Amino acid sequence: MNNNNQDKSNKTADKLFKISTNKESLKFLLVYIIIGFAWILFSDTILEYLIDDMQVILKIQTYKGWLYVFVTGIVFYLIIRSKLVMIEQSANEINESYMKLEKNSQSLADSEQRYRLVVEGSNDGIWDWDLINDTYVFTIKSKPNFGYEDGELTDSFESWKSIYHPEDWLKTEKYIRNFLDSDKIFYENTYRLRCKNGEYRWILSKGKAMRDKDGKPMRITGSHTDITDRKQMEEKVNRLAYYDQLTELPNRFMIEEIGIEKIDYYRNKGEEFAFVLIDIDNFKHINDTMGHKIGDQLILHVKDILSDTIKPNHVLARTGGDEFSIIITDSHNKEEVLHLLDKILSDVRKPWLINDHDIFISISAGLAFFPEHGHSFDEISKNADTAMTHIKESDKDGYAIYHPSMIEKTWQRMLKISKLRNAIKKKEFYLDYQPIYNIADHRFVGVEALIRWKDVDGNTISPGDFIPLAEETGLIHSISEWVFQSVCDQLNQWDSIGFDNYKIAMNLSGKVLTGENLTSIIKNTYGICDSVFSKIEFEITETAVINDFEKAIIELNNLKKLGIKISLDDFGSGYSSLTYLQKLPLDSIKIDRDFIKHILSEDAEESMFKSIVDMAHDLGLNVIAEGVETEDQLRFVRKNGCDMAQGYYLGRPVSPGEIETILKQLI
Ligand code: C2E
Ligand code: CA
Ligand code: CA
Repeated sequence: MNNNNQDKSNKTADKLFKISTNKESLKFLLVYIIIGFAWILFSDTILEYLIDDMQVILKIQTYKGWLYVFVTGIVFYLIIRSKLVMIEQSANEINESYMKLEKNSQSLADSEQRYRLVVEGSNDGIWDWDLINDTYVFTIKSKPNFGYEDGELTDSFESWKSIYHPEDWLKTEKYIRNFLDSDKIFYENTYRLRCKNGEYRWILSKGKAMRDKDGKPMRITGSHTDITDRKQMEEKVNRLAYYDQLTELPNRFMIEEIGIEKIDYYRNKGEEFAFVLIDIDNFKHINDTMGHKIGDQLILHVKDILSDTIKPNHVLARTGGDEFSIIITDSHNKEEVLHLLDKILSDVRKPWLINDHDIFISISAGLAFFPEHGHSFDEISKNADTAMTHIKESDKDGYAIYHPSMIEKTWQRMLKISKLRNAIKKKEFYLDYQPIYNIADHRFVGVEALIRWKDVDGNTISPGDFIPLAEETGLIHSISEWVFQSVCDQLNQWDSIGFDNYKIAMNLSGKVLTGENLTSIIKNTYGICDSVFSKIEFEITETAVINDFEKAIIELNNLKKLGIKISLDDFGSGYSSLTYLQKLPLDSIKIDRDFIKHILSEDAEESMFKSIVDMAHDLGLNVIAEGVETEDQLRFVRKNGCDMAQGYYLGRPVSPGEIETILKQLI
């Protein structure tokens, strides 16, 4: 209780005390007057009745006067004394109760002050909602954070509502309504309030409700705490979990959640939407050869193209290293989606300028539509992935819409990969050798080793079928090592028989040429013996070196230093650039069998054939004609200056035993 209240009660007590004292005194005076009168009247009458002598009566009257004064004196004394004792007792009682009161009000003030300190210290505000009288009081104690001056925000419901975030207000309104209708006691809600500078801060509001016996809330009182820092931290953690750091796009987890929501929404709406999976072609190669920084810039470059092309209501995410996903909603038809993809593909194909170089890139995309290609997000994304893999395995740089037949194809491919893996383990391969002859004197000069795969069921699978698959899956490294070792064993065997003056050509995959440690693998296999290396020739193709030209040149030079010969295979079938002939450390070129096949049907080709041979000779290279199937073809290649020939007409690929027969004739 405060001093004002104490004063008030003091005054009231004074007033009451005065009233009762006046009454008592008047009563006392009246009794005294009555007794006085009665004494004067009756004592004289009694004296006159008892005594006749006037002299004696006068004397006694004097004593009677003295007696009256004495008795009334004693009576007064007793009365005043008892009153004084009473007053003293009352005063003591009043004093005691004042002291008690003072003590109570002190502890009340203490606890009030304590509460205020806690509220201020905890940076919390308080609120109190009286539902009976419909009054609402709230304070923001953390005013410095909100920027409001004292008095600027009144403690009212309207004031509180006026700084509420509009999005959170609807949510809170609903929460309050549910809370009031429930029988809950504890209230907890989070929302944003606007600061004076327009920023919003997060508030955690906690309260306790007082309900009547029917459970109806009468009053809710609580506190609100500024939890903006905590929220920002949560948001940061959330960003790390749901967003990609490099592109700041949603990540795989985020798009999965969005995708599940979209499926629910579009299922109810009865509409379709598209899911697109995009993968950058040859990204690993760019990343490995040009470095991770350039790789990152390429990701950002593709991201920019994608986000510039899609509409604001589409969802773009980075779902893997070089993989993006898009959820395309609200498109009127499939053509619109395909049109959007055409635009993306053509923008990506435009040269990308990096470090003063124009780099040509492409992407492969797979599409699946909800609900046509799946009823769950898992199914939709899996089918888009199947469509994307389908494109990757064919020409890349394009898109495909999912079709169930793709699953069968993918399944077949997986089966083939697993069979190939087993074939490596169980060594189901062997080598055939096809002879190569010097054209001028029909001298046997060597063989080309050609791999064969006979599977467990006895089927022979052509290298044209499994080598590309082995290159895509990386299994080519194990296969190549097996070929190197088999050729090595063959060389040793023929050497022990005493065969000399021949070479063995091996086909070298680009993946192996520019892969890890080719030279050391070769050294480990063949030892450091010049006589062995001089018998080896590696056949490489233009496509094998095109991806990493610099590395290919380094590796080829290393091989050349060992004494190994290099020949450019399938010349005239692909790019056939003069640059390769000039820059690669070659010993010979092999003119592609398709070129030879068409040679006699088209007159115009002859001059071109001749100029290729001349050009190669000018560069000091030998020319080998491949796929010579007829005598006419052999005559033609001889006439046009080819040095060597290989083909069914001269000899099919055969077992080592059959080659031995030829070799024996040479000794
Ligand atoms: P390639 O290097 O061009 O090998 C020559 C291919 O032409 C062989 O097919 C051979 O059998 C075939 N051929 C030879 N003469 C004639 C002919 O007169 N007419 C016709 N129509 N074809 C002829 P094969 O053995 O099926 O090999 C196909 C491809 O597989 C090879 O083409 C080569 O690129 C690859 N390959 C074969 N063995 C290996 C290997 O050990 N390692 C690697 N990396 N690739 C290999
Ligand atoms: Ca070859
Ligand atoms: Ca060839």
